This record gives sequence, C-alpha cells and structure tokens, in this order.
Amino acid sequence: MMTFSRLSNYFDRLDQTASRNEITRILADLFQKTSDHEIDLVCYLSLGRLVPLYEPLEFQLAEKMVVRVIASAFHEEVRTVQKTYKRIGDLGAVAEKFKVKNSKFKVQKLTVTEVYRRLRNIAEESGEGSQQRKVDGLARLLKDLDSLSGKYVVRIVLGRLRLGFSDATILDALSFMRLKSKELRPQIEKAYLVRTDIGAIAKLFKSQGLRGLRGITASLGVPIMPALCQRLKSADEMINKMGKVVVEPKYDGQRVQIHYRKLKTPRRWAGRQNSKLKGDEWQVRAFTRNLEEVSLMFPELSSIGKQIQARDVILDSEAVGFDSTTGKILPFQEIITRKRKHAVSAAAKKVPLRFFVFDILYHNGRSLLSVPLHEREKLLEQSIRGETVLVKAKRIVTDIPQVLRDYHRQELEAGLEGVVVKRLSDPYIPGRRGWSWVKFKEAEESAAGLSDTLDCVVMGYYKGRGKRTAFGLGGFLVGVRKGEQYVSISKIGTGLTDVQWREMKMRIKHQESREKPKAYAQVHKTLVPDVWIEPSLVTEIAADNITRSPVHSAGLALRFPRLVRFRDDKLPSQATTIREVKRISSLQ
Ligand code: AMP
Repeated sequence: MMTFSRLSNYFDRLDQTASRNEITRILADLFQKTSDHEIDLVCYLSLGRLVPLYEPLEFQLAEKMVVRVIASAFHEEVRTVQKTYKRIGDLGAVAEKFKVKNSKFKVQKLTVTEVYRRLRNIAEESGEGSQQRKVDGLARLLKDLDSLSGKYVVRIVLGRLRLGFSDATILDALSFMRLKSKELRPQIEKAYLVRTDIGAIAKLFKSQGLRGLRGITASLGVPIMPALCQRLKSADEMINKMGKVVVEPKYDGQRVQIHYRKLKTPRRWAGRQNSKLKGDEWQVRAFTRNLEEVSLMFPELSSIGKQIQARDVILDSEAVGFDSTTGKILPFQEIITRKRKHAVSAAAKKVPLRFFVFDILYHNGRSLLSVPLHEREKLLEQSIRGETVLVKAKRIVTDIPQVLRDYHRQELEAGLEGVVVKRLSDPYIPGRRGWSWVKFKEAEESAAGLSDTLDCVVMGYYKGRGKRTAFGLGGFLVGVRKGEQYVSISKIGTGLTDVQWREMKMRIKHQESREKPKAYAQVHKTLVPDVWIEPSLVTEIAADNITRSPVHSAGLALRFPRLVRFRDDKLPSQATTIREVKRISSLQ
C-alpha cells in the first residue's frame, strides 16, 4: 500500500512539469509502484476527483468553508487565514503553510486508500448539518496529514488540482508502464472508449494486462464514448468511400445517451443510486457526449418505459426542443437553459424535448457494439413504440450520390442542419475514428467560406480600448487542440453582438488565471493576452477561410472569424483538433 504522502510527492513533481513526455514518464513510474488494489483510486485522485467523470459526486464545499476548515484545523483566526489566502491566492498552499507553522500536530502515516475513504465520506455527507460535518471531517484529515499532502487534499476538495493532464495521458502512461513506449495505447484506448471509467481500465490492465481488457463490452450504467462524425466534401466522395449508406437528418440539439432498464431485472446497475430517474417500474440514466450524467436535467425521460419494448437498452439520441403548438423544432439555444438546475422543471414545461433516437448499443443484456448498423436498426425498430418522447430518426438507405444530394437539400429546406451519413455494414465505433459516420453540410460551403465551423477554446482576453471596454474585454484569443495542449489560431476582436460580449465576460469571469495555464502550448509574444483563461469555455467559430500563419502556434489562422455560439455541451478536450483544421483547410 502506498502512503498518501508518497502520492503527494508525485503530485508535486507532476505539478512542476509542463512537458507531456515527462508527465507521462512520471505517471508510468507512479503506476508501476502502485498496487492493483489502489491504482483506480490513484487515477481518480490524480485527476482531482473521487469517481469516474460520469459520476456526479462533488465535494460541495465553497472556498469560504475551506477557509474555516484551515482555521479550525490549525487553531487560527478565520481572518488570518483569509488574509494569507488573499496574499498567495491558493488555499492549498495556505493549508501547507499553516501546517508547517503548527508542526506540533502529529502526522499520521495514512495510506492512499485511507485518505480516499475519508475524502469520500466527506463528499457523501448530505442532509441537515452536512456542511458542518464536512468541515469537521476535512479539518481532522488536514490535522493528520503532512503539509504537502494537505496542500493537495485542499486542491482536490476545491476542484483545483489541475495537474495538466486528462484521461488520455493516463492511457499513454499505462502503456509506458509496461513497455516504456506508447505502443499499447491504441489497444488500451479501445477498451476505454467502451468503458469510460479510467480507474477500472487501469485496474484491469495493471492486474491482467491486455488480456484483461479484451473482455470489455458495453455495460448498463456506464456511458460509452459516443461515435462522432468525420467530414467529407461531396456526396460522390462519400459513396465512393462508404458504399451503401444510411442517411439521416442532422438534428441540431444535444447528444444524449440513454440507459434504460426495467426494474426487477437481476442485472446489477453500475453507478450511484441517487443520480437516476426512478419510476416504480423502470430506471433511466442519461449522459452527454462529454460523459456527464444529466438524468435529472431531462425529466421527460422518466416516462419512456411506456415506449420501450425491451428489458433493458442503451440508446443514442439527439435531444431537441419541440414546440408542441406549431410542431416545429426549436433552436439549440433554447434547451441549453437547463444547465441551471433550478430552471429544469420550468423549462421542461415551456420547451418539452423530444429525443430523436438514431442508434441502439445494448439490448436485453447484450452489447450491440460489434453488430452491423442494419441489424442494430432492426432491433431499434422493434424496441420503441410510438412517438411521444422518443422518436425514431427518419432515414433512407442509398448508394446513389444524387439521391444523397437530394435528400440533403430537402433536409436543409426543412430547416435542419444537414445530414449524417453512416456506412450500413459497420459496427458502432466509439469516438472519432474511421469513416463510419460522416457529416454533410455541403450547402454552407458555397455560401459562407469554410465547409464547417471550428470549436475553439478561449485561451485569454485583451482589455482593449474604446467602446468595448464597457464589456470588460476588447478581444480574445482562441485555440484548437494539439494533443492535450491548445495552440492559438485566431485573435477575435469583432463579429460579436453586444449581448455576446457581455455573455463572454460573464462566462470567463471565474476562469481567470494569473499565469499561462499549463494546458497552453507556446503563444507568440505579440499575442500574449492581458488575462489568461483556464481552458473551460468552448466557442463555435465560423470563418471565411484558413491561411498559413507565422505567429499563431497552430501554424494556421482564421480569416474573418466570427462567434456563432457558445458550446456549453463541449469540453475543451473535445474542441477541434489541429488535424481536423488541416482537413477542413484542405477542403477549401
Ligand atoms: P458535430 O458535433 O458537428 O461533429 O456533429 C455530430 C453530432 O451531430 C453528434 O454528436 C450528434 O449530437 C448530432 N447528430 C444529430 N443528428 C444525428 C444523427 N442522425 N446521427 C448522429 N449524430 C447526429
């Protein structure tokens, strides 16, 4: 068993390096020294969490409360702690400092498992008096820990660990641990995309190697990484490359993966009990494309048992706002208001959602991931009755480019975003790999420059001059993904409405950073923003074209960029990659 103190030393080394290779090596070494029994916990903790991404367990302790924790643990005045915090700006470092100062408290040698268990108890406290119990529990823990461990525990509790890597680097590090190279990464990743629990994957791999990962299939309650679309330019190219295809409208809403089971099904349900929608007869969990649990955001789903003709299923769908009086589909922005939890029931009444279901990944205890699309469709057809909340997506099957083009035009005229084209004989391929699914937005291409928009991460902003200073910023720097870092591709100072400027400022207010965040790669000195922003906000940017750039670290720049909308449904790790930008650029 590893001591938490030793783990904190690793955290400290990771915190001090920005080099991706070095981080991978340190993690590989850490995993090597961790036992099979603790490696899952080490994975979650190093990502600043206690559970996989899709489990909604949070500490629910505000900064103010943690100030009180530190004061109580080390018998200091709240005011003194606050003052120190103002000066150094990191409560983790504050805890460390007071521990050093109060060395009279005896340090216990706690294992990773013990600290994890105590943290988990703190997070799971709920109900009356729970804030106080959380404060007391954390204060006791800080007393028992050495100063460096205290620093990292506080950062984890506040959701500020940010060691500069995500699940992807852990996959590399697992391969590195075995072979001192990234050779096994694709095979480990393949398992991870099906079971997106990084801790479970690490544990299986550490104890049984690749053999352990081979048995992984879809399981109810654990989100599968959704299949994503590639881009191809024309209908001809699609048919050439893909042969016989299914063509479906591209509904413009939010991706939702629905896990459903009838109660009294013996199969165990993964995940926490209190996060699901529960009826008397069935249970539902729903996940976004970022693998976030959103069941409670969609009360409509509580009635789907009436439509589903199976014991259990996993469905892939797009949630779309629907105006029941006009029968029209509503724009994406309307449903996003549900992010704010209290607004859910009001929103559900005002803009009820429909879930356009286009795939089925699991059926009556059986994973369908390796079953060809045409057979999955048959099962989907049998599994849903009626069109109240769940609606089967419309589709045609063709291998004639002209039929594809006509269908596409017809969908555009009907107000949809375009079409998604899927190879008829393919299995379900999680993630963005291969040419199984392709999106087609041909009409946009001739009208407005690029064939597609880019999802860019906001890297920082400029204070600016003139009228816009009233909004608190005059321009901002955006970037695209390169590995786990972001490289700049555009400085945007025009093309936003007043409302968008204000919204931008509001959204980035809490993400400001004194230094360049570790996730950002080189930014040219002429582009360094006045204020850096932690990678958190994704914006959809349209542009007329893409040109070479000597200053932007992407090596490319956008001409006439404009903000289309904020993509609250995407994580920075799902922003457009440099490879995709090059591809879009080559389609010009
Ligand atoms: P994009 O986000 O532009 O890469 O497009 C892919 C997204 O389109 C998916 O993640 C879904 O949210 C959405 N989508 C809408 N309709 C469909 C459909 N019929 N099949 C697959 N994805 C769809």
